[in-house]
Amino acid sequence: MSTRPSHPTLADQFGALTFTGDVMLKRLPADVLQKLQKTIRLGSPLDPAIANTVALAMKEWANEHGASHYCHWFQPLTGGTAEKHDAFLSPDGDGGAISAFSGDALIVGEPDASSFPSGGVRDTYEARGYTAWDATSPAFILRSGETSTLCIPCAFVSYHGEALDLKTPLLRSMEAINEQAMRILRIFGTDRGVSQVTTTLGSEQEFFLVDREFFQTRPDLQICGRTLIGSPPPKGHQLADHYFGSIPPRVLSFMADVESQLVELGVPVRTRHNEVAPGQYEIAPVFETSNIASDHQMLTMHVLEKTAERHGFVCLLHEKPFAGVNGSGKHNNWSMCTDTGVNLLDPQDETHTNMQFLVFLVAVIRAIDLHGDLLRASIASAGNDHRLGANEAPPAIISIFLGDMLSDILDQLESGSPRSTKKGGALNLGARTLPSIPRHAGDRNRTSPFAFTGNKFEFRAVGGSAAVAWPNTVLNTIVADSLDYVAGELESRAGSNPTPKKLEAAVRALLKQLVHTHRRVVFDGDNYASAWHAEAEKRGLPHLRTTADAIPAFRSRAATDLFVKRGVLSDLELKLRVEVLFEHFNNIVEIEARTLSQMVRTLVIPAALRFQAELAETAAATMAAGIACPDTESELRTVVELITELRARTTEVEKHAATAQKDAARTAIHHRDRTRPAMEQVRRGCDVLEQMLPADTWPLPTYAEMLFQR
Ligand code: ADP
Ligand code: MG
Repeated sequence: MSTRPSHPTLADQFGALTFTGDVMLKRLPADVLQKLQKTIRLGSPLDPAIANTVALAMKEWANEHGASHYCHWFQPLTGGTAEKHDAFLSPDGDGGAISAFSGDALIVGEPDASSFPSGGVRDTYEARGYTAWDATSPAFILRSGETSTLCIPCAFVSYHGEALDLKTPLLRSMEAINEQAMRILRIFGTDRGVSQVTTTLGSEQEFFLVDREFFQTRPDLQICGRTLIGSPPPKGHQLADHYFGSIPPRVLSFMADVESQLVELGVPVRTRHNEVAPGQYEIAPVFETSNIASDHQMLTMHVLEKTAERHGFVCLLHEKPFAGVNGSGKHNNWSMCTDTGVNLLDPQDETHTNMQFLVFLVAVIRAIDLHGDLLRASIASAGNDHRLGANEAPPAIISIFLGDMLSDILDQLESGSPRSTKKGGALNLGARTLPSIPRHAGDRNRTSPFAFTGNKFEFRAVGGSAAVAWPNTVLNTIVADSLDYVAGELESRAGSNPTPKKLEAAVRALLKQLVHTHRRVVFDGDNYASAWHAEAEKRGLPHLRTTADAIPAFRSRAATDLFVKRGVLSDLELKLRVEVLFEHFNNIVEIEARTLSQMVRTLVIPAALRFQAELAETAAATMAAGIACPDTESELRTVVELITELRARTTEVEKHAATAQKDAARTAIHHRDRTRPAMEQVRRGCDVLEQMLPADTWPLPTYAEMLFQR
């Protein structure tokens, strides 16, 4: 009798739908496998000679899984993913077709690129674009109903080779980090056996689940992914009874479904829990190298949204689906790691003696201090504007939290010679049966946008619906640049082949100076406090409140030089990206404004008029019976005034939304200063009416219904 369990184990399932590991081992000849793995593991250039063999093996494997089509799967500047499906077919020369998939088709695709955002680099008649196979991220089979498709992760570039996607610059930025981090390792003599340094990424995804029935009657949720009106529910998260609470059965069954699909796709999902707000949840994977983690993050969003439908839910990834209720972010845990498995941001026990760690740490601090504006701009979006600084998410001021232990070491570094490492010690819980637990040397800080959390940084300001590739590209680029500076200083101060003593002296002198200059960006206190905002201003830290304020950071000469020098983006590539960011923001605001006006005119005002008529009738009938009803009369007057006011405000929204300025940047400022405040006014009017109208007259599901019913 077999002892195997009848259901597949996690190990059987993990990566079952990815072309990697055992699948490659079984299906590729040894020499081809070896060459492919050199690219995957060591970052060597891809040998095109192996493409035919790999393509054939992929096709056979995909066919066995029921896939008749393949697609180049890429991330255009829309912030989502794109795919164009082709059948595994080729003409046979006799008027028929044979099943085929060539190496060429695996390596290059030619999607019509004219309909993707390109920031004006191309005209619609210049349609050619190329997708190029990224062998370092495993191909996978995506199932949708009965249909399976082989998806090949790809870069996407224009006819002239400009990157038109999010993957290409991310890969380039990882190379920039690799080059500079290896230099630091060489200085410390710790590069032996190390082929490359990669960045690692684990992104926790927060999201809301709303019953599909409610979603279907809310045009704002359907079109904008967030509510544009809606008064706050009587209960929010004051009682803190949702966070980490028991996961409701229907949600748990949804999560289990999501997890089993993600596991098959090789996404190492691990954590699931209720988040702070009612109706809000989180899932998080184990970290991976940034490129794969970024692809897996896109897949995670896709699977969440698709699976929600099957369970009668809608999954909202938007940064702020409900005003006044905790929003959703995507905590971006980031570090640097050698291919031999050494985490370069692991402080280890005697941190004050760990000069290499301190060099990496201070290089990161320097990068954030010099380029906090770029990091801020990297997470700017129409959605994130509603979340940042809302006293539940990090503020728009970029600062770093280090915690007691590292802050103490910075003190020591600044005074010249670090001598000790603060220890957390043990926590005695006071009951003999409970274990004594080792305590971390520093607490956590949930208010910081960029927090050191033990052996990595957690960039907490990334939005819930954002593609993580871009913020990581920017982070890698500024850190690579800083590592370059630090390596250069050390090389020139210590000379070649320095004695350990000479090297240590050079490191200490440099770190002393850098800590002194860049420490202003470190802040361990409460980032929500208004005192911090004043203090940050004194320290000269940028406070870029909105998207329209933040994106121009990418336009500075310094920013262009930085991206060009690090080989991440050319001048033109950066320009087109900035243009796309502005356009995207403007489009979203305009769509939201139009949706709002339509909802007000076709749903809210008609409902309010019905109520007005009801009140008028009641008042007339009551007075006809000889009874005065001043309250009803005054309520009637209020409703009439509110409707008049609402109509006027809605006209303003319509006017502002339709007024384009000279260029996209100016339009963004116009939307910041005019359209959005006008929308806020309309919203306020609607919310007052919602509180007044009879429940059976209000035409939309309420916050309480959407957040609490499941
Ligand atoms: P919390 O919510 O308490 O911050 P989670 O366990 O939800 O923590 O998420 C932490 C994330 O950080 C996980 O995705 C984890 O894999 C990731 N992580 C851990 N170590 C590293 C590292 N060295 N580099 C990048 N990410 C990491
Ligand atoms: Mg978490």
